[in-house]
Amino acid sequence: MNIVFLGLPGTGKGTQAEMLAGEMEIPHIATGDIFREAIGRQTELGQKARKFMDAGELVPDEVTCGMVKERLAQEDTMSGFILDGFPRTLAQAEALDQIMQQLGRKLELVIYFAAPEEVLIRRLSGRRVCSGCGATYHVEFNPPLEEGTCDRCGGELKQREDDREETVIHRLQVNREKTQQLVDYYERQGKLTSLTAEGSLEKVREQLKEAVGLI
Ligand code: ADP
Ligand code: AMP
Repeated sequence: MNIVFLGLPGTGKGTQAEMLAGEMEIPHIATGDIFREAIGRQTELGQKARKFMDAGELVPDEVTCGMVKERLAQEDTMSGFILDGFPRTLAQAEALDQIMQQLGRKLELVIYFAAPEEVLIRRLSGRRVCSGCGATYHVEFNPPLEEGTCDRCGGELKQREDDREETVIHRLQVNREKTQQLVDYYERQGKLTSLTAEGSLEKVREQLKEAVGLI
């Protein structure tokens, strides 16, 4: 199944995508993760993305769309994928339609994670990410067994640079209107399913499994 996860930062897309992709045995493609990895490896893509990410701005569409086009052409996406954090603009949504058409495939489902912004500010400011394997935790809602250490690989947990409160507020502002435009776009295409993303991890997971037909 070819799925897009849509929603403001902090709605839980990455956390849920990781679990669902494992269960469905399809790749989880998160554009934010690809950019962070490129920055870590100091590639040209990383250099292009860095200043926008640090400022909480969107990376320009031509950079982002080119990267997604390359990623979706890879063999492992043939059995389906979860695209997380892309599209974020109408131009990206149109580019995705075109990419899928060129590949002779179809986007089947867009899942919108809806949650009030107060919840998102708390989630993003408490988010911690493993510097080794990228696993995501929350100091309060999903803490590791040992503070500061990843349960999975023992790596050090860090706060993302762009999860500091000032940047979080700016990121929400940057994404608010664009996300709503995408909700309207996919509603018109008849592909949108909305979830209440403010509940517990388990509650969201339950709704998600229903949306993709796993229960
Ligand atoms: P996104 O990928 O949408 O930006 P994440 O999956 O990284 O969001 O989640 C943001 C933060 O909120 C993380 O710290 C995560 O552990 C936490 N989180 C995710 N889903 C929930 C939930 N349902 N309830 C409480 N905390 C959550
Ligand atoms: P995320 O990990 O999804 O929170 O994304 C982190 C940052 O990566 C964003 O604030 C943007 O700077 C950049 N980014 C990720 N996905 C996109 C996208 N689809 N379009 C533009 N910028 C993106």
